[in-house]
Amino acid sequence: MAHDATIVWFRQDLRLEDNPAFLEAVRRGGPVIPVYVWAPAEEGAWAPGAASRCWLHHSLQRLEGRLEKAGSRLILRRGAAWDELESIARSTRAGALYWNRRYEPEIRRRDDMVKGRAHDLGLAVKDFNGALLVEPWEVTTRQGGPYKVFTPFWKAALDRLAPAEPVTAPRRVPAPESWPRSVRLESLGLAPRPDWAGGIREAWAFGEDAAWDRLETFLDASLDSYCDGRDQPGRDDTSRLSPYLHFGEVGPRQVWHAVQAAAAGRGSNAAKRGAEKFLSELGWREFSYSLLYNFPHLPAEPMQEKFAAFPWKHDAEAQRAWQRGRTGYPVVDAGMRQLWKTGWMHNRVRMIVASMLTKDLLISWQHGAAWFWDTLVDADLANNTQGWQWTAGCGADAAPYFRVFNPVSQGERYDPAGDYIRQWVPELAGLPGQWIHKPWQAPPDTLREAGVCLDDTYPSPIIDHSEARDRALAAFERIT
Ligand SMILES: Cc1cc2nc3c(=O)[nH]c(=O)nc-3n(C[C@H](O)[C@H](O)[C@H](O)COP(=O)(O)OP(=O)(O)OC[C@H]3O[C@@H](n4cnc5c(N)ncnc54)[C@H](O)[C@@H]3O)c2cc1C
Repeated sequence: MAHDATIVWFRQDLRLEDNPAFLEAVRRGGPVIPVYVWAPAEEGAWAPGAASRCWLHHSLQRLEGRLEKAGSRLILRRGAAWDELESIARSTRAGALYWNRRYEPEIRRRDDMVKGRAHDLGLAVKDFNGALLVEPWEVTTRQGGPYKVFTPFWKAALDRLAPAEPVTAPRRVPAPESWPRSVRLESLGLAPRPDWAGGIREAWAFGEDAAWDRLETFLDASLDSYCDGRDQPGRDDTSRLSPYLHFGEVGPRQVWHAVQAAAAGRGSNAAKRGAEKFLSELGWREFSYSLLYNFPHLPAEPMQEKFAAFPWKHDAEAQRAWQRGRTGYPVVDAGMRQLWKTGWMHNRVRMIVASMLTKDLLISWQHGAAWFWDTLVDADLANNTQGWQWTAGCGADAAPYFRVFNPVSQGERYDPAGDYIRQWVPELAGLPGQWIHKPWQAPPDTLREAGVCLDDTYPSPIIDHSEARDRALAAFERIT
């Protein structure tokens, strides 16, 4: 039995339950030294954005709390990851360094470097899968290459999928005799100054316990209605687990087993259908990771090469109107304001706003992806890249470019009573459902009674959708 310490390098796996690196470190015997290193410079162009940093602050605080309850600590450092890990390893005479894998290209390069250096220092290094149901290299076509289409990918993944039962964390974590130096969480500068994040704190609870509360609420209240409800932004029928999954406050294996158990326990067809659909959404997450791993250029370049020549426009004013939720299309503005206030946006609305940017306004998907990156609490390089390329029509298995979302009919279909608009665009709340998705067509009396004055209390559309659609299709023809 080993008596030297094991360093557990926490990254996007901010939980103790079913955390393979952490649990293996405990199993190895000897003291366990949990460490988090804030090293944004090592993430290349994709250092966590402002909303993600805010989430990370709270998530680390919760992890610290959980570790302290178990008689342990979270050692916090900032700087180059290897320099910090090396100094901790030397000062504690640690014998091993464990972590859970990440899949972003810059991080993989950094981790390879750390692995080499740690070996040279004589540490036993092990990395684990704490983030995915299947590794991105495990699901391949008959020819051995990666899948580029979701349905066969997920079918092949399901054939080989047998997620291990989640493992519970020990109540006590063995501590070293003396702890290495740690900086204070506040000194990492993750919490925004000045504090603009009240909306995020109001909308979310952070950490592992909150992730479980969220999951259980979803399973109790929404699993049965997920198939029908998941597309309606005015309802609360999706899980909202995305930031917890991104930061690893809950892992997909845990979610998988909890969903299967809930569906089996209820035994109804609705629960079975809901579970299948929900797990296939987790499948999209797996697919996105497979794409990012196998095509690491995707965050910067379109999957379909012809799109590199697409005649995108530069229109700072329109881009700003889109960012601020002032396009004059209520469903778009509602989504962008939900994002700005809470750091999250409903999936259906993400597709609508992304279509508005890339097709109506002809502004490149990279600009949209960058804005989401900064403002989403669930900003995730694999999912965000895939979501943007899908909507822009340039990705693997993407919506075809000629599928231009109509912001009025999408609103009328998925938010028929206008509840979502009333919540996020309160200046339109007095309009009847018939006009709430197209206020510029409402009769003057109706507008007056609702207290809406176009171009004063709410903007007219910044672009005519049907003209924009024709313009988009013409632009597309130039590259085909
Ligand atoms: C333009 C665009 C950008 C996006 N950017 C992100 C992002 O940065 N981070 C992110 O996690 N998701 C992103 N998505 C995917 C999706 O919108 C969110 O995962 C989802 O809205 C999160 O809400 P939820 O947890 O309630 O989802 P649920 O419907 O409850 O789904 C459960 C989980 O499955 C995964 N999932 C669901 N839909 C997708 C999808 N289409 N692609 C990949 N995984 C999915 C998520 O991890 C999600 O938490 C993006 C989609 C689009 C169209």
